[in-house]
Amino acid sequence: MFFSSGDSEKKGKEAVKNLYYFSENQMLDCNQYVIKDPKTEELALFDTGNGISLKGLFKGMEKYNLEYRNITKVFLTHEHVDHVLGLYPLIKTLNDGPPEIYAYGETASILKAGNKSQICPDILGINLEMFGIEIFPLSVIDLANSEEIKVFSEFTFQIHYTPGHSLGSICYYDSNKKILIPGDLVFTGGSFGRYDFPGGSLSDLINSIKYVNNLDVKYLLPGHMGISDNGNPQIAFSYKMIQSMTSFY
Ligand SMILES: [Zn+2]
Repeated sequence: MFFSSGDSEKKGKEAVKNLYYFSENQMLDCNQYVIKDPKTEELALFDTGNGISLKGLFKGMEKYNLEYRNITKVFLTHEHVDHVLGLYPLIKTLNDGPPEIYAYGETASILKAGNKSQICPDILGINLEMFGIEIFPLSVIDLANSEEIKVFSEFTFQIHYTPGHSLGSICYYDSNKKILIPGDLVFTGGSFGRYDFPGGSLSDLINSIKYVNNLDVKYLLPGHMGISDNGNPQIAFSYKMIQSMTSFY
């Protein structure tokens, strides 16, 4: 069974006050982040996982008294299947009051159109049938016209367009709290996103990592693998690694 453990409980951690990290499940899932408004208990969700892991996220949230019915906003980092597929069961679950969905440029267009082949490119030996989730057109707020967004009362994120992993990839950056949510641009441990998917580009990826390497980052909260509260050295490490790949040419 490909996804036999796909809905197991997601492990959580309060990474920053009122910002919770839920680590990815096995088999093509992603890390997720939940911001709570302490006044209203409203929640904002960053990335939605592969859909199968949604129940596991809800179970994990329960441990921190985060009520999934209070999710009012969803922010996406990019258009890939492991980050957006959870949108569809989430919307069905919250059909009385579906959340606002925010995404950038190409990601917003793909989700508005319900473009299956761009959400799940047919290259990893995976296909949508494995997930058993139906994709349909969504109404999405395009962040391309926003320099920053306020998430409830305590968090303000700048929107930085950082292509290379995909055409619709962005980073969310809170300069006061020094939080970077980079999606699949850069990971901990010297890793960085793949650039061999449709819309990917190695030179764009290098430029984007170089760009975030100049931000003041304490909390690095990426789409896969672990998180760090020592962000800048981690980003610098990834930048060094990706540069070393190209020094042969
Ligand atoms: Zn991706």
